Amino acid sequence: MTPATLECDIKKTTSSRIKDVDFARLTFGETFSDHMLTIDYSGGKWQKPVIEPYGEVSMSPAAKIMHYGQGVFEGMKAFRYSDGRVNMFRFYEHYKRMRRSCERLQIPFVDEEAFIETLKKLIDLDRDWVPRDKFKSLYVRPFVFATDASLGMCASESYRYMVITSPVGDYYKEGIKPVSLTTTPEYVRAVKGGVGEAKTPGNYAASLYPGYKANAEGYTQVLWLDAIESRYVEEVGTMNIFFVMDGRLITPSLSGSILPGVTRKCVLELARKWDMQVEERQVSIDELFRSYNEGKLSEVFGSGTAAVVSPVGLIHHEGEEIKLDQDKMGPIAQQLYDTITQIHHGEQEDELGWCRVI
Ligand SMILES: *Cc1c(COP(=O)(O)O)cnc(C)c1O
Repeated sequence: MTPATLECDIKKTTSSRIKDVDFARLTFGETFSDHMLTIDYSGGKWQKPVIEPYGEVSMSPAAKIMHYGQGVFEGMKAFRYSDGRVNMFRFYEHYKRMRRSCERLQIPFVDEEAFIETLKKLIDLDRDWVPRDKFKSLYVRPFVFATDASLGMCASESYRYMVITSPVGDYYKEGIKPVSLTTTPEYVRAVKGGVGEAKTPGNYAASLYPGYKANAEGYTQVLWLDAIESRYVEEVGTMNIFFVMDGRLITPSLSGSILPGVTRKCVLELARKWDMQVEERQVSIDELFRSYNEGKLSEVFGSGTAAVVSPVGLIHHEGEEIKLDQDKMGPIAQQLYDTITQIHHGEQEDELGWCRVI
């Protein structure tokens, strides 16, 4: 699965767009660095990687991705150390997840070395695009999609793997904004055996309408319950979820319908290192309300690459509400946030081996 050669064709831009970018005012996902990476798959093998100026993609209107959604993506970040070096944070974990997502979508995938080495080259070339301030980063978006120009409903024989990168600002620039969540009685996100574990476009398309309805009722996002019993908490759809109950840190176990978050993994690894009582298990919505009513639920927060940790201020379920502190992170969320962001920027030793510095 390795491209024939790890050498890349590099076509550098002749006029960088960086001078037009206001790094103090970045909106997530709207500014793209000078270059992008492409590796095509055809004739049963990966072709030579190409790094070229960021630009449009041309393909057949019959390309399978447009009709059947055979595609996968990832989302990860590179951070700047104060000495100027750049940290590719947990890229290997993202690689492993992308490979698993590809497997589920019947897509071949590049091997680890090709993934990491081509990313190194791309990020190194656009090194100036990695923001210098703490809490800012270069968001890295690898994706792969089916390119066969055929409406036949079968796996494609050709694919394109691409990476684009985007400088992003501090998620909490305007202060902490706890999110409000609601369960939804009508819709489900994923069911065991489906594609909920894979980062594949259809999952996100399917969540838009329920998300829109939750917004219309005044909630930020949907808190997904399991699809079979509508009883066990799963995740938020862009974030995994954690509860602090009776001093224990609890998160739903990976059930087959939950996306295995890399940030979730970071939180669990740190909490275990700190000798906290950690539980990965089923958590029912009833247990959550019971714990809240008994005064034992002290924190709820989401975890994801975009925000690191995101406090939840309110949970609505069938006319009842859990209300937590509305304007700040709880102590455990804060400690996790501080530690992870310090490791991002090289301010704390990387004892758990999360960073690859270039
Ligand atoms: C990406 C994602 C997450 C968070 O994963 P991270 O690796 O921590 O960014 C959680 N849930 C869903 C559905 C996701 O797509």
